[in-house]
Amino acid sequence: MRTINVFTNGTEVSKKTKAILVEKFEKNGFTVGEKCSPDSELLVCIGGDGAFLQAVHTYHFPSIPIIGVNTGHLGFFQEISPDDPGQLDAFIRDYKAGRYTLQQLSTVQAVVTTPDGEKHVHRGLNEIVIRGNHSYSVHLDISIGNSPIEKFSGDGILVATSAGSTAYNYSLGGSIVDPRIRLLQVTPIAPMNTTAYRSFTSSILLPSELSLGIVPELGKGAEILLMNDGIEHAYEETCEIKIEFSDTIINLLRFESYDFWDKVKTKFL
Ligand code: NAP
Ligand code: MN
Repeated sequence: MRTINVFTNGTEVSKKTKAILVEKFEKNGFTVGEKCSPDSELLVCIGGDGAFLQAVHTYHFPSIPIIGVNTGHLGFFQEISPDDPGQLDAFIRDYKAGRYTLQQLSTVQAVVTTPDGEKHVHRGLNEIVIRGNHSYSVHLDISIGNSPIEKFSGDGILVATSAGSTAYNYSLGGSIVDPRIRLLQVTPIAPMNTTAYRSFTSSILLPSELSLGIVPELGKGAEILLMNDGIEHAYEETCEIKIEFSDTIINLLRFESYDFWDKVKTKFL
């Protein structure tokens, strides 16, 4: 039995698209499961990029192929547009025939060590953001590898994956990175650069083997908010944060016509 799992963001148009897709899958001999079981061979995610990220987090970064059907807004991760009904049939036909490739997306993880010595791990497909939990500026001791590099002062620090480079990172003036490149992009959020405070004002690119260390300075603004793909976690006590490249891979199903730079052009220009 070939089982497919379908996740939606719950909007009316997504539910309608799901019903159409389920019918087509069943006609083609597939079973559509409600829960992402270990024997599912494909995860179909209906919605926008936000729904795609939600599916990835809900299913704990699954290793099975994922395909996005765009009923949302931008749909950068999404491969299929249901506005054209022919695309859904073509999808099932090409999928059955094995006419697709898997785009491997690397991820980023933050390991937060709290004063009790406990470690909390947060994963992101787009990015990890560290900022203050209030409107004060934050002061962060930043190290790369084992070398202390700077005391960052400003709103915060964003660490983007290559796949996440086109999201929040791009709005902050960061660079668009081809997802075939294994790196982390560290982008400052409103860095202060005065005689009082000195911070890098551009993004820094790190190779996958180097990690970023962050120790928030005590005092006003020491309360830190960590966000992984927009999911918030507040840390009220001083902690130590390590942000590193993760070996967890998300496999995105792409068809012959997919080209990263073509997607960038059609979505951004
Ligand atoms: P959201 O606030 O609705 O997302 C903002 C926009 O980012 C949406 O248009 C979304 O596409 C798009 N997006 C998400 N991932 C992308 C990617 N890898 N490449 C290009 N665009 C992408 O929140 P959300 O939908 O839950 O997504 C969470 C993400 O929003 C976070 O990971 C962060 O990157 C991003 N964000 C951006 C800003 C900013 O640019 N100022 C601020 C906060 C968060 P859809 O319309 O298809 O959902
Ligand atoms: Mn969204």
